Amino acid sequence: MKKILLITGASTGIGAVTATLASRAGYCVCINYLRNHAAAKAVASSIEKDGGEAYIFQADVSDETQVKSMFESIDREVGMITALVNNAGIIEPQQKLSEMSAERLHKVFATNVVGSFLCAREAVNRMSTRKGGAGGSIVNVSSMAAKYGAPFEYIDYAATKGAVDTMTLGLAKEIAEENIRVNAVRPGIIYTDIHAKAGEPDRIERVKVFTPMKRGGQPEEVANAILWLLSDEASYITGTLLDVSGGR
Ligand code: NAD
Repeated sequence: MKKILLITGASTGIGAVTATLASRAGYCVCINYLRNHAAAKAVASSIEKDGGEAYIFQADVSDETQVKSMFESIDREVGMITALVNNAGIIEPQQKLSEMSAERLHKVFATNVVGSFLCAREAVNRMSTRKGGAGGSIVNVSSMAAKYGAPFEYIDYAATKGAVDTMTLGLAKEIAEENIRVNAVRPGIIYTDIHAKAGEPDRIERVKVFTPMKRGGQPEEVANAILWLLSDEASYITGTLLDVSGGR
């Protein structure tokens, strides 16, 4: 059976690398992106050049209508989805709670939590063996921030990732009998542009010090963990939160 994987936020960073490695592992890859069409196209083209099959789909994952229409496009243009990586995520500049606006929390929550919820719901409705699907696997990209809370910098982001963890645990149990596994990875500090986007390009240097392995992680190291959790090698693993954090 054709393995069809949707990765959200896959035009850059961890998502883009996961798309490339997933194709090498035999997946037909659907690349979701928010705005950067050229970057999404570049990831797809490089996969195709490598002999793989890739498609790009624009959608804001926090928007219910856009998410539904993206899944309908995948049904029509690619086929029945068998795997989902909820990777799209945002983080805002460092701030203490006393300075944080409620709008900021709503914004981060909309992408990181509502986005993961909406995509998981669409995927489950297609993959569930109770609904005629063939089963499947979901990996949510959480963060070590969910574990340590990120005081003085971004407790809003940490709280959204805590919600992603809890949703992973609940959903895994809810749909275990529908032949769908749900797990999460919790990356530590990883070399991507997300830190610069949040106005702190030297965050990795700062956090390295607190990391037992004394280095940041590469996106490939997170992608490998995601692909392992998606794969049949992890066939008896569901509801697991896997730290990919250099020992933090
Ligand atoms: P990144 O900024 O390169 O990737 C995030 C992607 O999500 C971007 O392509 C962005 O356009 C996309 N995105 C944002 N909002 C979206 C929306 N509403 N709809 C669709 N796409 C949207 O950074 P990254 O580091 O590769 O982040 C990937 C995931 O890893 C995120 O969930 C992030 O929270 C998580 N993470 C990253 C680190 C790290 O140190 N880099 C650590 C822990 C967790």
